[in-house]
Amino acid sequence: MKIAIVGTGYVGLVAGACFADTGTHVICVDVDEAKLNLLRRGEVPFFEPNLSDMVRRNWPKRLDFSSDLAQSIRGCDAVFIAVGTPPNEDGSADLRHVLAVAKDVSKNAVHDLVLVLKSTVPVGTNERVCAVVKEHATYKIEVVSNPEFLKEGDALSDFLKPDRVVVGTNDDEAFAVIRRLYAPFVRRQNRILRMSPKSAEIVKYASNALLATKVSFINEIAGLCEAAGADVEHVRQGVGADARIGYSFLFPGLGFGGSCFPKDLRALVSTAEQLGVRCRVSEAAVAANEIPVAIMLEKMKKGLAPLKGRRIAVWGLSFKPHTDDVRESAAIRLISLLVAEGARVVATDPEALGTAKVQLESAKLMDSVELVGDEYAACAGADALVIATEWPEYRNPDYSRIAEVMLGRQIYDGRNILQVDVVLEAGFSYFAIGRPSSQPTT
Ligand code: NAD
Repeated sequence: MKIAIVGTGYVGLVAGACFADTGTHVICVDVDEAKLNLLRRGEVPFFEPNLSDMVRRNWPKRLDFSSDLAQSIRGCDAVFIAVGTPPNEDGSADLRHVLAVAKDVSKNAVHDLVLVLKSTVPVGTNERVCAVVKEHATYKIEVVSNPEFLKEGDALSDFLKPDRVVVGTNDDEAFAVIRRLYAPFVRRQNRILRMSPKSAEIVKYASNALLATKVSFINEIAGLCEAAGADVEHVRQGVGADARIGYSFLFPGLGFGGSCFPKDLRALVSTAEQLGVRCRVSEAAVAANEIPVAIMLEKMKKGLAPLKGRRIAVWGLSFKPHTDDVRESAAIRLISLLVAEGARVVATDPEALGTAKVQLESAKLMDSVELVGDEYAACAGADALVIATEWPEYRNPDYSRIAEVMLGRQIYDGRNILQVDVVLEAGFSYFAIGRPSSQPTT
């Protein structure tokens, strides 16, 4: 089979590499020439574990890169749209790129094909794309909704071993094309769920909304624990042990971020509003997500009084570990609040220094922020250390090295990843989310 994937970002490139790895011929299309040039040199323009190896293994035999959409879609059984759907100012999804690609594909197709909506799009978008196709296409183009559920940081294993593949189509032939493409990934049991395009579109938003709600919920319970003098880490374990609830996404911390949860929840709320429905739970999950960073800032203001003029080491910039994505990162939100209070920040991250620099520059924060490549260097002369992203290497740090270089003795654990007794024994005060603050034992 031969397919084209338009949009070579986290989703498009992972999908392209994984399909190519099963023998499908894939051409990844993008408008970003710089990105394509890197890929043609065998370099992946962002960090995703194991992705470079897979790209190199398949390129150029079964995986290629192009900016020429018309040429790329020739001979393709299916064309995937995996371009970004960023939020508009009112929270709704910006579908300009999706609709532009749909138009380009329709105008340039010289044979029948299946057009697959892989980008996250609100319910009703399949219908809108069908209207674009109807206006511009000469050949039969069947529009299928096939939302993507991969997580950055685990993208390859999520794509290769999906919990489910959702396929929204009323057309048997189009479904057969998609089923054939995904068959290698669902061999153990058939997890391909066929449904209407509208249902498929809603599955994606409903899944993200429920996962984000779990995060906001446990953060709310963390607030209750703090007020009552309980420990949310014990509460989390007690709650998650219920098989109906489970432990996943039940970790208290600075809140969710990334390119999906915040924007998808806002888009869900916005679409519902347009349809005359209120999604109050999702609205609350978005609003509650602002709270943990604000609480952490208050703790730091109290613990360091005054915060103004202090030097703060921040470990972690990406919105979660194993990615260099800093879109809507809680770490960056906290940094901007620290800077607004007059603090100086020295931040580090194993993978996200480059992406964070771009984001911090555009927010005009770089005058007060220094980025360094090593976590112990970040602590040099710092009054306090904040852990903002739960990278594995931050879980068991060398406290004697921290103590050697750090001026102050306060650690703020924004992800509840440190072992309290070890922190205290090392002579630091410990502040976390939903747990009592503790003073050093020595
Ligand atoms: P991204 O920003 O990493 O990549 C999008 C790519 O599309 C960019 O390389 C951009 O240059 C390209 N592009 C934009 N307009 C184009 C056009 N007209 N023609 C060709 N290329 C064009 O985005 P992403 O994170 O991969 O997300 C893509 C979609 O998948 C979004 O709708 C997102 O919500 C959804 N999604 C993302 C994730 C995730 O974890 N990142 C997971 C599931 C679903």
